[in-house]
Amino acid sequence: MTPEADSTIAPPEAFPGVARATASYLAKLGLTRPFDLILHLPLRYEDETRIVAIAEARHGVLAQVEGVVFDSEVRFRPRRQLIAHLRDDSGELAVRLLNFYPSQQKQLAPGARVRLVGEIRQGFFGAEMVHPRIRTVRAGAALPERLTPVYPTTAGLSQLALRAGVGVTLGTAELAETLPATVIERLGLAGFDASVRLLHDPPADVALEALEARTHPAWQRIKFDELLAQQLSMRLHRQRRAAARALALPGAETLASRLLDNLPFSLTSAQQRVLAEIRNDLARPQPMQRLLQGDVGSGKTIVAALAALCAIAADRQVAVMAPTEILAEQHYAKFRQWLEPLGIAVAWLTGSQPARARKAALAAAQSGAAAVVVGTHALFQEHVVFGRLALAVVDEQHRFGVRQRLALRLKGANGDELSHQLMMSATPIPRTLAMSFYADLDVSTIDELPPGRTPVETKLVSETRREDVIRRVRDACADGSQAYWVCPLIEESEQLQLKTAIDTHAVLTATLPGMNVGLVHGRLSGAEKAAVMAAFKAGEISLLVATTVIEVGVDVPNATLMVIEHAERMGLSQLHQLRGRVGRGVGESACILLYQQPLSLIARERLKIIYENSDGFEIAREDLRLRGPGELLGARQSGVPMLRFADLIADARLLETARDVATDMLEHYPDHASRHVERWLGGRDELLRV
Ligand code: ADP
Ligand code: MG
Repeated sequence: MTPEADSTIAPPEAFPGVARATASYLAKLGLTRPFDLILHLPLRYEDETRIVAIAEARHGVLAQVEGVVFDSEVRFRPRRQLIAHLRDDSGELAVRLLNFYPSQQKQLAPGARVRLVGEIRQGFFGAEMVHPRIRTVRAGAALPERLTPVYPTTAGLSQLALRAGVGVTLGTAELAETLPATVIERLGLAGFDASVRLLHDPPADVALEALEARTHPAWQRIKFDELLAQQLSMRLHRQRRAAARALALPGAETLASRLLDNLPFSLTSAQQRVLAEIRNDLARPQPMQRLLQGDVGSGKTIVAALAALCAIAADRQVAVMAPTEILAEQHYAKFRQWLEPLGIAVAWLTGSQPARARKAALAAAQSGAAAVVVGTHALFQEHVVFGRLALAVVDEQHRFGVRQRLALRLKGANGDELSHQLMMSATPIPRTLAMSFYADLDVSTIDELPPGRTPVETKLVSETRREDVIRRVRDACADGSQAYWVCPLIEESEQLQLKTAIDTHAVLTATLPGMNVGLVHGRLSGAEKAAVMAAFKAGEISLLVATTVIEVGVDVPNATLMVIEHAERMGLSQLHQLRGRVGRGVGESACILLYQQPLSLIARERLKIIYENSDGFEIAREDLRLRGPGELLGARQSGVPMLRFADLIADARLLETARDVATDMLEHYPDHASRHVERWLGGRDELLRV
């Protein structure tokens, strides 16, 4: 199942009428059907409809001039270049080409009449154009009446060839309207066919600014159609899912109240609410696909454990999957602590465990002896077989690809019954994303932290004041608190990152005599990591030096101080996750972000956002603004077709309209709806179909 691979191979025959040579380049641009080429819209336009007198052309502005060459020579100083001079009735202009072909030299031979498009500037030789676009013309040759589109292209494919290809395709295309007339009328939308043709070939008097800012009605129509296609496809997918079957899991009242009685806390009302939503889904004979989102520390794990009881009470199994070994290990510890007293067996499965333990875990999963199996992505590998899986819990879901999640769900397939899926995330999805890419998921949100949490004070401290920070760590630990020291992320080299962590550990150990300084990083074995984390949790280690492996899920309430080195290198959600490791107990907590000057603009902005905001939703929203949706979604692995034209923030209103129209169309105009999806997505929403 590799839809990306498929979509890159398009035989030239896919584009009837387009020159073979051109067609073979189109695949490189990701274009596989004539409609893709039709939607390959210009980046900008050049105005060749007017000629400006040389004397009147404004400097620094793109203009077209026409004149006759009266002088042309190749100079060798300071380097080889072609310099030609031309004049019109108003003045003279130099043309300078630093790289040129003999054909261009011929084009600029004395006596030639040429039109040049470029920016005039004051150069060494007076007014000049450097590397303008040059076209040889006859005297009095007609000017084009339309603007000239400039397309995104790829090396080897000229604008001229691309323009010709688009022209041929548009010429034979029948772009029937896919929206019902009533919708077009109600929303005052421009026609689709007219919009596309205008964007490829605008008349000279078009509102060029609106065109380039993509606010022109023609652009609005394209964006609307794109958003609508996405909404429809998500909705259709959801309908198909509603038709799929799963085992209905009625409540587990007895088990649940026994678990709750054993807890040292009671659920917040937000936890109770989301649990009710989840139980409601589980009780239905359709597979649940619910995203449980809640800020770092909001208490998602206990909700997942209570949901697990519904499957266990029905004598079925639950798989709990986490993206890192440390996090999986913590879940394992929690699930055991909560479930074993109820007589429920919990097994542990990772890639790094010894063969014998692994074999035992595999056997327990297959026989059903383990009601709960906790692990990393090892859980959905092929040889793992679940005897009676009914619920898969996936923590930090955005770190797994769609395919991995799917694989785990299919493991639970029992005949035509699928397992239920509960996904969890501490990176809340901003509203516009939830409405678009996650429109096929049900979302539950824990919008309240457990009582007794103290807000974390965030400090931005320059690297030059490192000594002060070390002193602060010493004081905090002397008072019986614990601290984290997070080493910088070094993306280019894991080796270097490891070395930095080891060095930092050595330096801090030497600087803080009498203090027990621990070290945890990605290269430790699962057992080693677990041992360090256990010692930290037990208070035997006061200061834990760590790489970003502790980013998610670590839970030590006595840790009240976090130092993050080179905070300027980290992303917003990463910083938020790290900071969420403190402020979990009753003590006052602080997070110190050490940064090194000079700060890039974006780093400065990120640090400002994290400094000013403690709310994960707000931070995720800002993150979306800074980075675009791709990163947030884990685009490369999400398998979801990305938006090409619409922008989730700028076009949020259009998105809401598209959502409403999608509902209307599915109900009243199902044929229009399927034609629209077919036009925009072709076969490309394959992954969403399962
Ligand atoms: P996250 O949502 O980030 O995964 P966890 O599930 O790890 O958060 O919970 C964070 C901590 O809060 C854990 O120690 C958990 O036992 C505790 N906790 C969860 N719910 C409550 C509650 N209602 N009251 C007090 N503590 C709670
Ligand atoms: Mg968690």
